Amino acid sequence: MSDPETIFAIVALGLILTRYFFELWLDGVNAAYVRKHADEVPEAFREIMDEATYKKSVRYTLAKARFGTASDSYSTAILCALLFSGLLASLFGQVVVRTAQSAWGLAVALWAVILLMSLLSLPFSWWSQFRLEEQFGFNNSTQRTWCSDQAKGVVLSFAIGVPMLALILWLTEASGDYWWLWAWGVVVFFQLLMSVLAPVLILPLFNKFTPLPEGSLKDRLNRLAKRTGFTNAGIQVMDGSKRSKHSNAFFTGLGKGRKIALFDTLVEQMSEEELEAVLAHEIGHYKLKHVPKMIAWSFVTTLAGFWGLSLLAGQPWFTGAFGFSSEDGFAPAFLLFGLLAGTVTFWLSPLSSLWSRKFEYEADAFASAAIGESAPMITALRKLNRENLSNLTPHPWYSGFHYDHPALLERESALKDWKPAGGAA
Ligand SMILES: [Zn+2]
Repeated sequence: MSDPETIFAIVALGLILTRYFFELWLDGVNAAYVRKHADEVPEAFREIMDEATYKKSVRYTLAKARFGTASDSYSTAILCALLFSGLLASLFGQVVVRTAQSAWGLAVALWAVILLMSLLSLPFSWWSQFRLEEQFGFNNSTQRTWCSDQAKGVVLSFAIGVPMLALILWLTEASGDYWWLWAWGVVVFFQLLMSVLAPVLILPLFNKFTPLPEGSLKDRLNRLAKRTGFTNAGIQVMDGSKRSKHSNAFFTGLGKGRKIALFDTLVEQMSEEELEAVLAHEIGHYKLKHVPKMIAWSFVTTLAGFWGLSLLAGQPWFTGAFGFSSEDGFAPAFLLFGLLAGTVTFWLSPLSSLWSRKFEYEADAFASAAIGESAPMITALRKLNRENLSNLTPHPWYSGFHYDHPALLERESALKDWKPAGGAA
């Protein structure tokens, strides 16, 4: 039993389980750390949170951790069962027989298999919304909204995913040894297209975006936008309360369709001064070109991914290890690569988290400079953490690995150190 197929199957199982047990361990470290600080509000947070809210945030953090463990265990078990029993290969084979061996047919088969896997995870998604979030008073969604969200997701993944996959599969046949460069070009094109179109065409399918109502808040935010050069683009209020009481703000899109969205829940919770600070932070992401930088980085990683795929796809053991037939061409290699790449890239996530946290510090500093002081940003962040029952005491290893935003204390201390340029006293 030392044929290449068996060896690769064992390597794949090792990668999946190593990641799973590492996550389990890190979650455990974090939960123990949270429990250790659970009995009284840590000194640094006494002016931010009362005892009852703090205890509730601890319970919420621990409940989410338990749910995460159950959900990870389930999805890891499903993945292993599908891969190592040969079931995935036989399912794929059955769909291919019905869709014929054209690029379109194979793309539909790939999509169908991926759809099946996401259908299997639906019970956990439902539980998260209607049990976990509900229990802590965050759920605002109805069963109807939830079902319609899932249905829209399926239609969108078909409308966007299948043409892109078909084009890539066709290129693997039509463009010779360097197919992976062409395929990469296709993905880059789709990604740029989506960055421009998503804020205009896709986000409005899920949420309503409305301009700020006339009044002092709008005047204040418009003055800030003008002062910082964020012109000819939308500052809009999004009906986040349709699904959840959680509050947030985000900047998205490229070109004319770019927009900053403030959740209606956020507008309700914060003072005008704090909302101005949040908006200044989001404008910071725009002015400091964080979105194009992230997109450029994802182009680099996608290129590396396609190159890796081109090497693996040529090896019969790569798909043979899971029972796929060599007659199915490139499509199974795509599927397996999609399912397994995460077990390798997972180990790079501390680097991307670190990079993302650097952007957050930069946007905070930009906001402080735009407003002339850092105090409103600090009170805005405190409110955001309190209202969302954020974990105030993450273990440093855990936050270092997973957090794409700095933990509250770190962020506050950077803001407190902020000094206006030019050295005013
Ligand atoms: Zn940010």
